[in-house]
Amino acid sequence: MLDLVISGERVVTPSGVAAVDVAIQGETIAAVATRGTFGPGSAHRHIDAGSRIVMPGGIDPHVHCLWFVPNPDGSAGLSDPPATVSRAALYGGTTTIIDFVRWTHGNTIAQAIDRRQQDWVGQCHCDYSLHVMVEGQLPPDIPEQLAQAIRNGYPTIKLFTTDITPSRRGRMVDFGDIWEVFQVTAREGGLCVVHGEDNDIVMHMYEKLGREGRTHFQYLSEVHNTLSEDLSFRRVIRLAESVPGRAPIYFMHVSAATGVQAIREARERGSPVYGETLHQYLMYTDADYQRPGGQMFHTYPSLKSETDRQALWAGAEDGTLQTVATDELCCTLATKLQGSRIDDTTGGNAGVEPRLAVMYTEMVGRRGWSLEKFVDLTSTHAAKLMGLYPRKGAIAPGSDADIAVLDPGLARTVRKEQLHETDYTPWEGHEVHAWPSMTVLRGKVVVEDGRFTGELSDGRFLPRRIDPAILAGGDV
Ligand SMILES: [Zn+2]
Repeated sequence: MLDLVISGERVVTPSGVAAVDVAIQGETIAAVATRGTFGPGSAHRHIDAGSRIVMPGGIDPHVHCLWFVPNPDGSAGLSDPPATVSRAALYGGTTTIIDFVRWTHGNTIAQAIDRRQQDWVGQCHCDYSLHVMVEGQLPPDIPEQLAQAIRNGYPTIKLFTTDITPSRRGRMVDFGDIWEVFQVTAREGGLCVVHGEDNDIVMHMYEKLGREGRTHFQYLSEVHNTLSEDLSFRRVIRLAESVPGRAPIYFMHVSAATGVQAIREARERGSPVYGETLHQYLMYTDADYQRPGGQMFHTYPSLKSETDRQALWAGAEDGTLQTVATDELCCTLATKLQGSRIDDTTGGNAGVEPRLAVMYTEMVGRRGWSLEKFVDLTSTHAAKLMGLYPRKGAIAPGSDADIAVLDPGLARTVRKEQLHETDYTPWEGHEVHAWPSMTVLRGKVVVEDGRFTGELSDGRFLPRRIDPAILAGGDV
């Protein structure tokens, strides 16, 4: 007897949208068969999803939990923990999130990983994994420590090419050290996930706008500008291509037309270069900084122009950009709005819960894209690029039974009171064409009709290994 069967007319599988039964035994998918193969008597529980959309659980490859953020009184604080973010993720149909280990000077990479895991083990409702972030001037033995981390299931290394703001000096890794890390990732099967901005341009603009008295956050796109993204992406790509075997690159939070074009050209050369954008970059522009509480739409680098926004959509459509993440940083509205200058506005965003519904609405509802393409951009591609496929990101035999059911009957206007993150949402008042009615994590129904039945012990760490075909630049 099977544990669970989900039968639907519109199930998104790797071979297309089909009317199938998804048979689940324990934590995994045992079979995917023509609808009606597994009747109500064949399982402990049989769910008929009808015409609702049955898709693999969403994957958000870029979130920050317990992340440093000043409190409104100026004291040091942290963003919300995995318990809060993972619960909201599951409510929104996302079953896997990827956060960061932050290595700091004086520690080994292994120590940083162990310490960060203490924030997560037994404290996350959904499955999770971790990128390893390094910063500043790297001691000479760090690249080899990263090689060990890659072998141990942490294949993605986060690098900044900028300090981001004048107060965050020490975040940037210089190109000599990046060159060393690239040689390790190229050799060991790692993937650098890069925050790419040109530090000279960014810091120059902080000084220039400071001199001119234009320090209000509405000018953020002049500081974190399109030229900076252009120069930085191309310099990173050139360096990566110079390394024997070519170092694969995944640009996080691509925000500008120039960034999209740099990735596109690299991919046309066959280089292993990939791009992520954020749902707020796809949906908002720097004009939204002018709105009351406009900081709530911001994350670094910055929102850009309408032209850039359209270029991001074009990049998502033609395959230049493969994933849509959130850069989640869950905090209160008071914390999010505390800074109002170009150099102190809080980055990150609360958005892990509405991500699937917002993107379904825009991609499938408004643009007429296929369900498969929507699922690729919100789940499957992240699984492939981050080394989780086919365990995650697929409704297929042998995959983890992570499933979201999107119900067009639950179309609604997004209201913060209905969400489970914090006391605000940048998506307030946004119309969505569907909402998840059910989320299944490794065979366990964790959200059903608004009821949460998950536990903190449910989430599991996912060690990762990236497919060599991806690292060689293949299409996802
Ligand atoms: Zn981030």
